Amino acid sequence: MELDFAPGLEDFREEVRTWLAEHIVGEFAAHRGVGSPTDDTAWDLRVEWERELSAGRWLGLTWPEEFGGRGLGLAEEIVFEYEYARAAAPARVNTQALELLGPTLLACGTHEQKSRFLPKILKVEEMWGQGFSEPGAGSDLADVRTRAVLDDGGVWHIDGQKIWTTFGHHADWLYVLCRTNPDVALRHRGLSLLLVDARQDGVEIRPIENINRSTEFSECFFNDARSTADLTVGEIDGGWSVVMTTLGLERGSALMPVQLGMERELSSIIDIARRNGSLDDPDIRQRLVDAYIGTKLMRSTNLRVVADLLNEDSPDPGAATAAAAMTTKLFASTQHQKMGELAMDILGFAGLFETGDPLDDVSTVQKLFLSSRAETIYGGTSEIQRNIAAERVLGLPR
Ligand SMILES: Cc1cc2nc3c(=O)[nH]c(=O)nc-3n(C[C@H](O)[C@H](O)[C@H](O)COP(=O)(O)OP(=O)(O)OC[C@H]3O[C@@H](n4cnc5c(N)ncnc54)[C@H](O)[C@@H]3O)c2cc1C
Repeated sequence: MELDFAPGLEDFREEVRTWLAEHIVGEFAAHRGVGSPTDDTAWDLRVEWERELSAGRWLGLTWPEEFGGRGLGLAEEIVFEYEYARAAAPARVNTQALELLGPTLLACGTHEQKSRFLPKILKVEEMWGQGFSEPGAGSDLADVRTRAVLDDGGVWHIDGQKIWTTFGHHADWLYVLCRTNPDVALRHRGLSLLLVDARQDGVEIRPIENINRSTEFSECFFNDARSTADLTVGEIDGGWSVVMTTLGLERGSALMPVQLGMERELSSIIDIARRNGSLDDPDIRQRLVDAYIGTKLMRSTNLRVVADLLNEDSPDPGAATAAAAMTTKLFASTQHQKMGELAMDILGFAGLFETGDPLDDVSTVQKLFLSSRAETIYGGTSEIQRNIAAERVLGLPR
Protein backbone atom coordinates (compact mmCIF):
# COMPACT_ATOMS: atom_id res chain seq x y z
CA MET A 1 0.00 0.00 0.00
CA GLU A 2 1.31 3.46 -0.88
CA LEU A 3 0.94 6.33 1.56
CA ASP A 4 -1.75 8.60 0.23
CA PHE A 5 -0.40 12.08 0.85
CA ALA A 6 -2.63 15.14 0.75
CA PRO A 7 -2.32 17.05 -2.58
CA GLY A 8 -0.13 19.82 -1.09
CA LEU A 9 2.29 17.20 0.17
CA GLU A 10 2.70 15.56 -3.24
CA ASP A 11 4.70 18.58 -4.46
CA PHE A 12 6.87 18.38 -1.37
CA ARG A 13 7.39 14.66 -1.90
CA GLU A 14 8.44 15.30 -5.49
CA GLU A 15 10.92 17.94 -4.29
CA VAL A 16 12.42 15.47 -1.77
CA ARG A 17 12.62 12.64 -4.33
CA THR A 18 14.26 14.83 -6.93
CA TRP A 19 16.80 16.23 -4.48
CA LEU A 20 17.73 12.78 -3.16
CA ALA A 21 18.03 11.35 -6.68
CA GLU A 22 20.31 14.22 -7.70
CA HIS A 23 22.50 14.00 -4.60
CA ILE A 24 22.80 10.27 -3.83
CA VAL A 25 25.47 9.82 -6.49
CA GLY A 26 29.13 8.76 -6.58
CA GLU A 27 30.44 7.53 -3.22
CA PHE A 28 27.08 8.28 -1.56
CA ALA A 29 25.37 5.92 -4.01
CA ALA A 30 28.05 3.29 -3.39
CA HIS A 31 27.20 3.51 0.32
CA ARG A 32 23.41 3.26 0.08
CA GLY A 33 21.81 2.37 3.41
CA VAL A 34 25.20 2.26 5.18
CA GLY A 35 25.31 2.61 8.99
CA SER A 36 22.58 3.17 11.55
CA PRO A 37 22.01 5.29 14.66
CA THR A 38 24.16 2.72 16.51
CA ASP A 39 26.68 1.81 13.79
CA ASP A 40 29.50 4.15 12.84
CA THR A 41 30.55 2.38 9.63
CA ALA A 42 31.78 4.84 6.93
CA TRP A 43 31.65 7.66 9.48
CA ASP A 44 33.56 10.33 7.54
CA LEU A 45 31.55 9.76 4.40
CA ARG A 46 28.34 9.98 6.42
CA VAL A 47 29.46 13.26 8.03
CA GLU A 48 30.05 14.59 4.52
CA TRP A 49 26.59 13.36 3.50
CA GLU A 50 25.00 15.05 6.52
CA ARG A 51 26.67 18.33 5.49
CA GLU A 52 25.18 17.87 2.03
CA LEU A 53 21.75 17.46 3.68
CA SER A 54 22.42 20.55 5.77
CA ALA A 55 23.32 22.61 2.69
CA GLY A 56 20.06 21.45 1.10
CA ARG A 57 18.22 22.50 4.29
CA TRP A 58 16.91 19.00 4.93
CA LEU A 59 17.89 18.84 8.62
CA GLY A 60 15.56 20.10 11.38
CA LEU A 61 12.57 20.39 9.06
CA THR A 62 10.17 21.04 11.94
CA TRP A 63 12.54 23.18 14.01
CA PRO A 64 11.78 26.92 14.12
CA GLU A 65 13.44 29.07 11.44
CA GLU A 66 15.07 31.31 14.04
CA PHE A 67 17.23 28.34 15.10
CA GLY A 68 18.09 27.29 11.56
CA GLY A 69 15.16 24.93 10.95
CA ARG A 70 12.52 25.22 8.24
CA GLY A 71 9.44 25.57 10.44
CA LEU A 72 7.57 22.86 8.48
CA GLY A 73 4.95 20.53 9.93
CA LEU A 74 5.07 16.95 11.09
CA ALA A 75 3.48 15.82 7.81
CA GLU A 76 6.43 17.15 5.78
CA GLU A 77 8.87 15.51 8.17
CA ILE A 78 7.12 12.16 7.75
CA VAL A 79 7.16 12.52 3.97
CA PHE A 80 10.87 13.32 4.09
CA GLU A 81 11.73 10.36 6.35
CA TYR A 82 9.67 8.04 4.19
CA GLU A 83 11.43 9.11 0.99
CA TYR A 84 14.80 9.09 2.73
CA ALA A 85 14.33 5.48 3.83
CA ARG A 86 13.03 4.52 0.40
CA ALA A 87 16.06 6.04 -1.32
CA ALA A 88 18.32 4.12 1.13
CA ALA A 89 20.42 7.21 1.78
CA PRO A 90 23.40 6.76 4.14
CA ALA A 91 22.30 6.87 7.81
CA ARG A 92 22.68 10.22 9.56
CA VAL A 93 25.45 10.60 12.12
CA ASN A 94 24.15 13.15 14.58
CA THR A 95 20.91 11.37 15.44
CA GLN A 96 21.56 11.92 19.16
CA ALA A 97 21.26 15.64 18.51
CA LEU A 98 18.72 15.67 15.69
CA GLU A 99 16.25 13.24 17.24
CA LEU A 100 16.87 13.48 20.97
CA LEU A 101 18.77 16.47 22.35
CA GLY A 102 17.42 19.01 19.82
CA PRO A 103 13.74 18.23 20.45
CA THR A 104 14.47 18.07 24.21
CA LEU A 105 16.01 21.57 24.09
CA LEU A 106 13.08 22.83 22.03
CA ALA A 107 10.73 21.49 24.72
CA CYS A 108 12.69 22.30 27.89
CA GLY A 109 15.70 24.53 27.04
CA THR A 110 16.18 28.26 27.48
CA HIS A 111 16.18 30.63 24.51
CA GLU A 112 19.96 31.06 24.92
CA GLN A 113 20.53 27.30 24.88
CA LYS A 114 18.43 26.92 21.74
CA SER A 115 20.22 29.80 19.98
CA ARG A 116 23.64 28.56 21.04
CA PHE A 117 23.28 24.86 20.15
CA LEU A 118 20.52 24.20 17.60
CA PRO A 119 22.03 26.06 14.61
CA LYS A 120 25.37 24.26 15.08
CA ILE A 121 23.59 20.90 15.13
CA LEU A 122 21.88 21.74 11.86
CA LYS A 123 25.15 22.90 10.29
CA VAL A 124 26.79 19.61 11.38
CA GLU A 125 29.40 21.57 13.32
CA GLU A 126 28.82 19.91 16.70
CA MET A 127 28.12 16.24 17.46
CA TRP A 128 26.39 15.09 20.64
CA GLY A 129 26.38 12.03 22.89
CA GLN A 130 23.90 10.98 25.57
CA GLY A 131 25.38 10.50 29.03
CA PHE A 132 22.57 8.82 30.98
CA SER A 133 23.61 5.19 31.70
CA GLU A 134 26.27 4.28 34.25
CA PRO A 135 27.77 0.92 35.24
CA GLY A 136 25.24 0.79 38.11
CA ALA A 137 22.35 2.73 36.54
CA GLY A 138 20.69 1.57 33.33
CA SER A 139 17.07 0.46 33.65
CA ASP A 140 17.12 2.00 37.10
CA LEU A 141 18.24 5.38 35.82
CA ALA A 142 17.25 7.19 39.00
CA ASP A 143 20.27 5.51 40.61
CA VAL A 144 22.70 7.79 38.73
CA ARG A 145 25.77 8.55 40.88
CA THR A 146 27.76 10.96 38.72
CA ARG A 147 27.96 14.01 41.02
CA ALA A 148 27.80 17.66 40.02
CA VAL A 149 28.38 20.44 42.54
CA LEU A 150 27.68 24.09 41.74
CA ASP A 151 30.26 26.54 43.13
CA ASP A 152 29.58 30.16 44.08
CA GLY A 153 30.78 31.32 40.67
CA GLY A 154 28.04 29.35 38.91
CA VAL A 155 30.41 26.60 37.70
CA TRP A 156 29.41 22.91 37.89
CA HIS A 157 32.16 20.47 38.95
CA ILE A 158 31.38 16.99 37.67
CA ASP A 159 32.86 13.66 38.84
CA GLY A 160 31.79 10.16 37.86
CA GLN A 161 31.43 7.74 34.99
CA LYS A 162 28.98 7.11 32.16
CA ILE A 163 28.91 4.09 29.85
CA TRP A 164 27.44 2.92 26.53
CA THR A 165 27.53 6.47 25.17
CA THR A 166 26.61 6.00 21.52
CA PHE A 167 29.13 7.76 19.26
CA GLY A 168 30.67 9.22 22.44
CA HIS A 169 34.15 9.33 20.92
CA HIS A 170 32.79 11.42 18.04
CA ALA A 171 30.97 13.81 20.39
CA ASP A 172 31.91 17.47 20.89
CA TRP A 173 29.25 17.81 23.60
CA LEU A 174 27.49 15.46 26.00
CA TYR A 175 24.14 15.86 27.71
CA VAL A 176 24.79 14.35 31.10
CA LEU A 177 22.38 13.32 33.85
CA CYS A 178 24.02 14.17 37.19
CA ARG A 179 23.14 13.88 40.86
CA THR A 180 23.04 17.45 42.07
CA ASN A 181 21.23 16.91 45.37
CA PRO A 182 22.15 13.71 47.24
CA ASP A 183 20.05 14.64 50.28
CA VAL A 184 16.51 14.31 48.90
CA ALA A 185 14.65 11.16 49.93
CA LEU A 186 13.18 10.49 46.48
CA ARG A 187 16.18 9.59 44.28
CA HIS A 188 14.78 11.01 41.03
CA ARG A 189 14.20 14.43 42.61
CA GLY A 190 17.90 15.36 43.02
CA LEU A 191 19.04 15.05 39.40
CA SER A 192 19.93 17.68 36.78
CA LEU A 193 20.62 17.48 33.06
CA LEU A 194 23.82 19.35 32.19
CA LEU A 195 25.31 20.21 28.81
CA VAL A 196 29.01 19.40 29.01
CA ASP A 197 31.84 20.22 26.61
CA ALA A 198 33.34 16.81 25.75
CA ARG A 199 36.62 18.28 24.52
CA GLN A 200 37.86 19.55 27.92
CA ASP A 201 40.64 18.10 30.08
CA GLY A 202 38.25 16.81 32.76
CA VAL A 203 36.49 14.50 30.29
CA GLU A 204 38.09 11.27 29.10
CA ILE A 205 36.27 9.20 26.50
CA ARG A 206 37.30 5.59 25.86
CA PRO A 207 35.68 3.77 22.93
CA ILE A 208 34.35 0.22 23.51
CA GLU A 209 34.39 -2.30 20.67
CA ASN A 210 31.01 -3.95 20.08
CA ILE A 211 30.03 -7.39 18.80
CA ASN A 212 30.38 -6.09 15.21
CA ARG A 213 33.94 -4.96 15.91
CA SER A 214 32.79 -1.37 15.52
CA THR A 215 33.61 1.21 18.21
CA GLU A 216 30.06 2.41 18.31
CA PHE A 217 29.85 3.39 21.98
CA SER A 218 32.17 4.62 24.75
CA GLU A 219 32.86 4.98 28.43
CA CYS A 220 33.07 8.60 29.60
CA PHE A 221 35.00 9.57 32.72
CA PHE A 222 34.46 12.93 34.43
CA ASN A 223 37.25 14.13 36.66
CA ASP A 224 36.38 17.63 37.85
CA ALA A 225 34.85 18.32 34.44
CA ARG A 226 33.19 21.72 34.18
CA SER A 227 29.91 23.11 32.99
CA THR A 228 28.03 26.24 33.98
CA ALA A 229 24.69 26.94 35.63
CA ASP A 230 23.26 28.40 32.42
CA LEU A 231 23.90 25.03 30.74
CA THR A 232 21.41 23.23 33.00
CA VAL A 233 18.43 22.06 30.95
CA GLY A 234 15.23 22.64 32.95
CA GLU A 235 15.35 23.27 36.67
CA ILE A 236 18.33 22.42 38.86
CA ASP A 237 17.35 19.12 40.59
CA GLY A 238 14.44 18.88 38.13
CA GLY A 239 16.32 16.87 35.46
CA TRP A 240 14.13 13.79 35.76
CA SER A 241 11.20 15.30 33.88
CA VAL A 242 13.59 16.54 31.15
CA VAL A 243 15.07 13.06 30.80
CA MET A 244 11.58 11.56 30.56
CA THR A 245 10.98 13.90 27.60
CA THR A 246 14.13 12.56 25.90
CA LEU A 247 13.32 8.91 26.63
CA GLY A 248 9.78 9.41 25.37
CA LEU A 249 11.26 10.55 22.05
CA GLU A 250 13.70 7.62 21.98
CA ARG A 251 11.06 4.99 22.64
CA GLY A 252 8.11 6.42 20.80
CA SER A 253 9.64 8.12 17.75
CA ALA A 254 7.91 7.21 14.51
CA LEU A 255 9.26 3.91 13.32
CA MET A 256 8.28 4.29 9.68
CA PRO A 257 11.90 4.52 8.43
CA VAL A 258 12.85 1.51 10.56
CA GLN A 259 9.99 -0.47 9.06
CA LEU A 260 10.94 0.51 5.50
CA GLY A 261 14.54 -0.48 6.25
CA MET A 262 13.30 -3.86 7.48
CA GLU A 263 11.29 -4.38 4.28
CA ARG A 264 14.44 -3.72 2.29
CA GLU A 265 16.46 -6.14 4.43
CA LEU A 266 13.79 -8.80 4.09
CA SER A 267 13.90 -8.54 0.32
CA SER A 268 17.69 -9.11 0.34
CA ILE A 269 17.19 -12.11 2.66
CA ILE A 270 14.62 -13.53 0.21
CA ASP A 271 17.14 -12.99 -2.63
CA ILE A 272 19.78 -14.93 -0.72
CA ALA A 273 17.26 -17.74 0.00
CA ARG A 274 16.38 -17.88 -3.68
CA ARG A 275 20.09 -17.99 -4.67
CA ASN A 276 21.13 -20.74 -2.28
CA GLY A 277 18.00 -22.86 -2.70
CA SER A 278 16.73 -22.57 0.87
CA LEU A 279 13.51 -21.04 -0.43
CA ASP A 280 12.46 -24.62 -1.21
CA ASP A 281 12.50 -25.46 2.51
CA PRO A 282 8.88 -25.19 3.80
CA ASP A 283 10.03 -24.13 7.28
CA ILE A 284 12.13 -21.28 5.85
CA ARG A 285 9.25 -20.22 3.58
CA GLN A 286 6.89 -20.13 6.57
CA ARG A 287 9.32 -18.01 8.59
CA LEU A 288 9.81 -15.63 5.64
CA VAL A 289 6.03 -15.21 5.42
CA ASP A 290 5.88 -14.51 9.17
CA ALA A 291 8.64 -11.90 8.77
CA TYR A 292 6.74 -10.33 5.87
CA ILE A 293 3.54 -10.18 7.92
CA GLY A 294 5.52 -8.60 10.78
CA THR A 295 6.73 -5.76 8.53
CA LYS A 296 3.18 -5.21 7.26
CA LEU A 297 1.84 -5.10 10.83
CA MET A 298 4.47 -2.48 11.65
CA ARG A 299 3.48 -0.49 8.59
CA SER A 300 -0.24 -0.47 9.49
CA THR A 301 0.52 0.49 13.08
CA ASN A 302 2.82 3.30 11.92
CA LEU A 303 0.18 4.58 9.53
CA ARG A 304 -2.40 4.52 12.31
CA VAL A 305 -0.09 6.50 14.61
CA VAL A 306 0.76 9.01 11.88
CA ALA A 307 -2.89 9.45 10.83
CA ASP A 308 -3.84 10.07 14.44
CA LEU A 309 -1.06 12.61 14.95
CA LEU A 310 -2.03 14.48 11.79
CA ASN A 311 -5.75 14.47 12.54
CA GLU A 312 -6.52 18.15 13.03
CA ASP A 313 -10.09 17.36 14.09
CA SER A 314 -8.93 15.35 17.08
CA PRO A 315 -9.15 17.28 20.39
CA ASP A 316 -6.02 15.49 21.59
CA PRO A 317 -3.96 14.36 18.58
CA GLY A 318 -1.80 11.37 19.36
CA ALA A 319 -3.70 10.29 22.47
CA ALA A 320 -5.64 7.51 20.77
CA THR A 321 -2.49 5.82 19.55
CA ALA A 322 -0.22 6.47 22.53
CA ALA A 323 -0.49 2.79 23.43
CA ALA A 324 0.40 1.73 19.89
CA ALA A 325 3.39 4.09 19.86
CA MET A 326 4.53 2.72 23.21
CA THR A 327 4.64 -0.84 21.92
CA THR A 328 6.20 -0.17 18.49
CA LYS A 329 9.78 -0.23 19.80
CA LEU A 330 9.15 -3.52 21.60
CA PHE A 331 7.61 -5.11 18.51
CA ALA A 332 10.16 -3.75 16.00
CA SER A 333 13.19 -4.83 18.04
CA THR A 334 11.84 -8.34 18.57
CA GLN A 335 10.90 -8.70 14.89
CA HIS A 336 14.32 -7.48 13.82
CA GLN A 337 16.08 -10.07 15.97
CA LYS A 338 13.89 -12.84 14.54
CA MET A 339 14.71 -11.60 11.05
CA GLY A 340 18.46 -11.72 11.81
CA GLU A 341 18.16 -15.28 13.15
CA LEU A 342 16.22 -16.32 10.04
CA ALA A 343 18.85 -14.73 7.78
CA MET A 344 21.61 -16.68 9.52
CA ASP A 345 19.66 -19.95 9.19
CA ILE A 346 19.24 -19.21 5.48
CA LEU A 347 22.96 -18.51 5.08
CA GLY A 348 23.80 -21.69 6.95
CA PHE A 349 27.53 -22.46 7.03
CA ALA A 350 28.28 -19.43 4.81
CA GLY A 351 26.95 -17.16 7.56
CA LEU A 352 29.96 -18.00 9.70
CA PHE A 353 32.47 -16.43 7.29
CA GLU A 354 33.21 -12.85 6.35
CA THR A 355 32.99 -12.12 2.65
CA GLY A 356 35.54 -9.30 2.72
CA ASP A 357 33.09 -6.78 1.26
CA PRO A 358 31.37 -4.91 4.12
CA LEU A 359 28.69 -3.62 1.74
CA ASP A 360 27.54 -6.88 0.11
CA ASP A 361 24.24 -8.49 1.08
CA VAL A 362 25.78 -11.34 3.10
CA SER A 363 27.82 -8.91 5.26
CA THR A 364 24.74 -6.73 5.65
CA VAL A 365 22.61 -9.55 7.05
CA GLN A 366 25.43 -10.82 9.28
CA LYS A 367 25.62 -7.32 10.74
CA LEU A 368 21.83 -7.23 11.08
CA PHE A 369 21.95 -10.49 13.08
CA LEU A 370 24.67 -9.20 15.42
CA SER A 371 23.57 -5.60 15.88
CA SER A 372 19.90 -6.43 16.41
CA ARG A 373 20.89 -8.15 19.69
CA ALA A 374 21.26 -4.67 21.19
CA GLU A 375 17.88 -3.40 20.05
CA THR A 376 16.01 -5.05 22.91
CA ILE A 377 18.40 -3.30 25.33
CA TYR A 378 18.99 0.32 24.30
CA GLY A 379 16.32 2.97 24.69
CA GLY A 380 14.80 0.83 27.48
CA THR A 381 14.99 -2.99 27.57
CA SER A 382 12.07 -5.14 26.45
CA GLU A 383 11.35 -6.09 30.06
CA ILE A 384 11.10 -2.40 30.98
CA GLN A 385 8.89 -1.72 27.92
CA ARG A 386 6.59 -4.54 29.04
CA ASN A 387 6.47 -3.14 32.55
CA ILE A 388 5.52 0.29 31.16
CA ALA A 389 2.87 -1.19 28.86
CA ALA A 390 1.45 -3.28 31.72
CA GLU A 391 1.26 -0.40 34.17
CA ARG A 392 0.50 2.63 31.98
CA VAL A 393 -1.46 1.11 29.09
CA LEU A 394 -3.22 -1.84 30.69
CA GLY A 395 -3.44 -0.30 34.17
CA LEU A 396 -2.10 -3.44 35.89
CA PRO A 397 -0.64 -3.16 39.39
CA ARG A 398 3.10 -2.49 39.74
C1 LIG B 1 23.89 -0.34 21.55
C2 LIG B 1 23.61 0.45 22.80
C3 LIG B 1 23.67 1.82 22.77
C4 LIG B 1 23.43 2.55 23.94
N1 LIG B 1 23.55 3.91 23.90
C5 LIG B 1 23.41 4.63 25.04
C6 LIG B 1 23.65 6.03 25.05
O1 LIG B 1 23.98 6.65 24.02
N2 LIG B 1 23.56 6.69 26.22
C7 LIG B 1 23.19 6.07 27.37
O2 LIG B 1 23.11 6.74 28.39
N3 LIG B 1 22.95 4.74 27.41
C8 LIG B 1 23.07 4.00 26.26
N4 LIG B 1 22.85 2.65 26.29
C9 LIG B 1 22.56 1.99 27.56
C10 LIG B 1 21.13 1.49 27.69
O3 LIG B 1 20.25 2.55 27.90
C11 LIG B 1 21.12 0.48 28.84
O4 LIG B 1 21.92 -0.62 28.45
C12 LIG B 1 19.74 0.02 29.18
O5 LIG B 1 18.98 1.04 29.75
C13 LIG B 1 19.76 -1.18 30.15
O6 LIG B 1 20.54 -0.89 31.27
P1 LIG B 1 21.70 -1.90 31.74
O7 LIG B 1 22.53 -2.24 30.55
O8 LIG B 1 22.38 -1.27 32.91
O9 LIG B 1 20.97 -3.22 32.18
P2 LIG B 1 20.23 -3.47 33.59
O10 LIG B 1 19.37 -2.32 33.90
O11 LIG B 1 21.26 -3.87 34.58
O12 LIG B 1 19.33 -4.71 33.24
C14 LIG B 1 19.83 -6.05 33.22
C15 LIG B 1 18.65 -6.97 32.92
O13 LIG B 1 17.68 -6.89 33.98
C16 LIG B 1 16.39 -6.55 33.47
N5 LIG B 1 15.69 -5.66 34.39
C17 LIG B 1 16.18 -4.57 35.01
N6 LIG B 1 15.24 -3.96 35.77
C18 LIG B 1 14.11 -4.69 35.60
C19 LIG B 1 12.78 -4.57 36.09
N7 LIG B 1 12.42 -3.57 36.92
N8 LIG B 1 11.85 -5.48 35.70
C20 LIG B 1 12.20 -6.49 34.85
N9 LIG B 1 13.45 -6.66 34.36
C21 LIG B 1 14.38 -5.77 34.72
C22 LIG B 1 16.69 -5.83 32.15
O14 LIG B 1 15.59 -5.90 31.26
C23 LIG B 1 17.90 -6.60 31.63
O15 LIG B 1 17.49 -7.77 30.99
C24 LIG B 1 23.08 1.89 25.13
C25 LIG B 1 22.99 0.49 25.16
C26 LIG B 1 23.26 -0.23 24.01
C27 LIG B 1 23.18 -1.73 24.06
